Parts: sequence; structure tokens; C-alpha cells
Amino acid sequence: MLKKNDCITITVTDIAHNGSGIGKTKNGFVLFVPGMLIGEIAEVKILKVLKHCAYAKMLSMLQPSPSRQANSCPTAQQCGGCCFHHTTYENECEIKRQLVKNAFYPLGNPSIEILPVIGSEKSSSYRNKMLLPVGTNKNGNPVAGFYRARTHDIIPCNDCVITYPEFFAITDCILEHLTEFKIPPYCEEAHKGILRHIFIRRGEHTGEIMVGLVVNLSKNPETTLHAKELIEKLLFVNQNIVSIAININTKKTNVILGEQTVTVHGKKYLTDTMNGIRFGISLPSFYQVNTPQAERLYQKALDLLGDTYETVFDLYCGIGTITLNLSKKAKKVYGIESCEPAVEDAKMNQQLNGIENVDFICGTAEEEAPKLVRRGIIPDAVVLDPPRSGCEQSLLEMLCEIKPKKIVYISCNPATLARDMKYLIENGYTANEVQPFDLFPRTFHCECVVKLQLKSD
Ligand code: SAH
Repeated sequence: MLKKNDCITITVTDIAHNGSGIGKTKNGFVLFVPGMLIGEIAEVKILKVLKHCAYAKMLSMLQPSPSRQANSCPTAQQCGGCCFHHTTYENECEIKRQLVKNAFYPLGNPSIEILPVIGSEKSSSYRNKMLLPVGTNKNGNPVAGFYRARTHDIIPCNDCVITYPEFFAITDCILEHLTEFKIPPYCEEAHKGILRHIFIRRGEHTGEIMVGLVVNLSKNPETTLHAKELIEKLLFVNQNIVSIAININTKKTNVILGEQTVTVHGKKYLTDTMNGIRFGISLPSFYQVNTPQAERLYQKALDLLGDTYETVFDLYCGIGTITLNLSKKAKKVYGIESCEPAVEDAKMNQQLNGIENVDFICGTAEEEAPKLVRRGIIPDAVVLDPPRSGCEQSLLEMLCEIKPKKIVYISCNPATLARDMKYLIENGYTANEVQPFDLFPRTFHCECVVKLQLKSD
């Protein structure tokens, strides 16, 4: 029997969905080892044994893969954000293709081809948004960083290679301000202290920066934070900051953002462009983190739609990034989104671009799309771009009843995409291929886009 702290030699034969290497002991017991690649042999130490598997860490590499490279990030070993800094980007894309296949094939449908991953032009300095938890180190000083994998321990970090280097001068400035004015960082266990998270987002094409401070304070946040002095310092550190906001979150929760956001400097929105369309993005709204790659993804979605249409539904539309692109493809487009600030942004973006043939509706796709259908508004094409949990079953059922001739499904989770496609294929649609798009280099996440066509009877 395998025990904690045992040291054994294993060969990695597969990669798990979270990027860990998978190997087996001589008795066939499954081991997960982060940072190992297929074909590699290493001595590993057992950290935790469960009923059907164990977790281990690599002690010494005995036979490295030809695709191994020196870690491209200094904090990669501890930080839970990335998992592929130890391999070439080319191999990472190969692994991701295999991970998408692994999500699809257990569900049947071997006839669906998983195409090679379309890689990102940039595999470092691509992430336009950073959300850092703030805490206190052993010496009592404020720190900001990333969570250690599977914990809420903060690994201080001011050199994350996947985001923009200029973000860290901003976080350093905020941490110094906390020290100067004795503003306590938030402590999760005690639910005490003030600054919970630092939020920074940058417009890829405009260079504009928005800074947000998530605070556990309901009264007078500006006075307690000495916001006036902080604003002055931040604007000195980075002249591209166009918006500084305080987000209030006083709940004992893992949800990062609270419902109220107060702009304390500049605009309420950051602006950026995508495929030539201008967008305003407020702090709580979703905006793809890898802008150039998302532009290619949206273009691919439009190409997959092909024809022009009478009526298109863009479900889970966010700030309208896809919806406004779709306005060229249809007489009328309906964008449905549940996050209220994102819908406000979407309506503003429609005006900003002088687009008239689009309506945005605030509510869930599963409730609002059937309401449109009951009013006799039937789409001949639908774009789906749900969160990781995928689509509600009731929405898929409705789509199979109203039968739009094409559905383009963009997904950030191959497992729920495979599940939802299985239902659509069993209920009237065909699909030949899945196109993975790497929007998140160095992490295990992989976006996919698929065209589903109504079967002709
Ligand atoms: N298509 C957009 C947003 C995709 S992210 C873009 O590319 O930018 C998924 C979006 O779905 C988020 O904006 C989230 O707020 C929204 N969302 C989550 N659950 C939803 C639901 N049940 N109905 C409608 N929108 C939902």
C-alpha cells in the first residue's frame, strides 16, 4: 500500500484536465504529479493518498521529455494560476488538443474531429486583467499575489509573466499606501481588515488602464482609504490610468466583487476596440482576457455562421462584443445577458458605434430567450457563449424545438461543451469538428468554437 511520504519512480502516460501528469504505480494505482509531461520518468514523493488515486510531487527528473523547457515563470512552482510553464508552447497546444479529445470521446461521437489548437500569438504578457488577493505576511506587511494551488495562501508576486509588467508598479504603489496610512489588508478567517483585492484591467488597443480596489467597508470608503492621496500617487506611477474605482464587498464570501462600485477618479469605463468596434467596459463586466486572440475567435464564429440571417440570438452576450459584430450578419440581433452592468455597457457600446439593429435584454438566457419566442420572435441562427457550467438543459430543449438552422457554440469548458453538444446532436443537429482556440496560454484552460447545423429531414 502506498503511504504519504513514500518515494517512488513513475512514468507519465497522460495529462489530467488540470495539467498534472498522470502515471501509475506497478499495481496500477493512479498518481497525479504537477509539472510532468507525457513520457517523462521521475522520482516522486507521495503527498496525499485517497481511495482511488494519490497526489505526488516531483523530486528528481530521471528522463525529461524533449518538449521540456526551463520554467518560463519564477513563481510557477507555487502559484496555482498556471500549469504549463515547463513545456514549449507548441507542446502545450498539442496537450490542449488531447484534453479536448479526452472531454469528448467518453461521450461517444468519435466522428467529431478535434482540430489542432489555434495558438495565441503571445504566450506571455497577454492577460489584460489581473485580480490579486491582498493579505498580510509573517512580518505584518501587506502583500498581494496569487493563491497557492488549492488553498487561499497568498504567494506574493510582482512578476507574473502572463500579464502586463506595468501592473506591478501599480500594485506596489497600493501596498506602500496601505503601509503609509496603516490601512489593514483583509483577513479572510477573521472577516476583518479592509483591502480584499486589487483589480487592474488594460485596454489592449488603447493602453487605457482601470484600477479597482475591492474593500470590506460600507461607510466612507474614500476617507478610510485616503483615496485622494492614493489617486495622486497612482497617476504619478502610471499616466495611462483613466479610471479608479472602489468596489464594496462586505460579505464573508469567496465571490470577489461586491455589487456596488464607486468611481473615484476619471471615467466609469475603460475603452478598447475589438475588430474595429469600440467598447466601453465597466469594472464588473466580463471582457475576454486575451484581446487579439479573442478577436480571431469572434471572427471565426462569424465565419462559421457564414450566411446572413433574419434574426440572430446572441446568448450570454456580456458587453455585446459578439452581438455588435453580428449586427453586420443579420437584420436583427438580440443579445441576452444576466449581469446588469454588462448590459448597461452593451447598450452604451451600441450607441457608441451607432448600431441600430440590435436589442439587449437583461436576464438569464434560459428565461429571456423563451419569452422572445413566445412573442413570435424566432431566430434562424443562435450564438451561445455560456460560462463554464454550460447551458441550462431547458434552453437546449427550447432550441431543439424552435430549430434555428445554425448554432455557433463558443465554450470555455470542453466538458460542458461535449455534454451540451451530445444533447443537440441527439436532437436534430450535426457537427463535424471542434476548433480549440488557446485564449489562456500557460494555464489549463482552453476555449473551443463549434458549428452545429440543423439536419435536413
Ligand atoms: N460573449 C461575451 C461573454 C461571454 S462570458 C464575450 O465574449 O465577451 C459568459 C457571460 O454569460 C458572462 O457575461 C456572464 O455574466 C453571463 N451569464 C452567466 N450566466 C448566464 C445566464 N444564465 N444567462 C445569461 N447570461 C449569463
